[in-house]
Amino acid sequence: MEQNDKIFVAGNDTLIGSALVRQLKSQGYSSLVGQGDRGPDLRDARSVDTFFAAHKPDYVFLVAGESGGILANQHYPAQLMRDNLLVQTHVIESAYRHGVRKLLYLASSCSYPKHAAQPLQIDSLLTGPLEPTNVPYSVAKLAGLHLCQAYRQQYQVDFIVGIPANAFGIGDDFALETAHVIPALIHKLHWAKLHKQPSIDVWGTGQPRREFVFADDLADACLFVMQHYSNSLPINLGGGTDLSIRELAELLKAVVGYQGRLNFDTSKPDGMPLKALDSTPLLSLGWQPQTALESAIAATYQWFRETADG
Ligand code: GDP
Repeated sequence: MEQNDKIFVAGNDTLIGSALVRQLKSQGYSSLVGQGDRGPDLRDARSVDTFFAAHKPDYVFLVAGESGGILANQHYPAQLMRDNLLVQTHVIESAYRHGVRKLLYLASSCSYPKHAAQPLQIDSLLTGPLEPTNVPYSVAKLAGLHLCQAYRQQYQVDFIVGIPANAFGIGDDFALETAHVIPALIHKLHWAKLHKQPSIDVWGTGQPRREFVFADDLADACLFVMQHYSNSLPINLGGGTDLSIRELAELLKAVVGYQGRLNFDTSKPDGMPLKALDSTPLLSLGWQPQTALESAIAATYQWFRETADG
């Protein structure tokens, strides 16, 4: 990927997409197409195809499609599944039709079976039932993964798939109904600190374990695999360590500076018991995450405070 190649980030308004745009610009890539609201309506096949015909991007990062935390998956399963199926089908087909040199599709760690061996390895995909709280979204992401593999097989195109750890960071969704755990707890802790509330609710037992990746690090990993990876096998994009939701909540509490109690609400679901990726293939290619979890959380909290204050 050369600095003046045309690059399209499909989903540049998402957490990961906006981090990718920052990362691309900071690494000197100057020909980004479809930025801001100048991109196509990804849910409309004709709009996507017209855009690709007009702009002829060389490289595509497909990081679009709605996503959400455990409750969003329960409240909006049709919306999440439909949105992802539409967006990925349109972008992958137009990328093929208009001769895109390489495309990276981001799948999801939800697509691994609920009880797959940990840390999660690619050969566990499709070996068992999915976590019931997010089956529709996970099936859509599995469809995207296999669509890339199928285009690669049938049309010999360089379409690759990354499976990221749970991403969080600057520009995240902090709305309690739809957010993932880190932005949701930052929001609750900040509010409770401001209003001197004695406790906050943390959903579930606190025992599930998750591996997290800072969106800016994930964006860097996406650029890295675009340059150094070409294979029909998906590649896990992680490299951090996992921690329990209880440990995470304690860490967030310390970063926010909240003195109250954590109240575990076991009427809410736990989701997957453990999600940690085996990122050995990525690490052995020479990539490493740059940001420690605590610093990444501090940067996210600072962004939230500035935005909320603003
Ligand atoms: P998941 O990784 O797909 O399960 O997505 P989430 O980030 O939504 O949830 C991760 C874990 O954090 C689950 O066990 C949740 O029950 C737990 N959790 C604890 N408190 C919260 C909260 O306030 N919001 C969310 N989304 N999850 C929470």
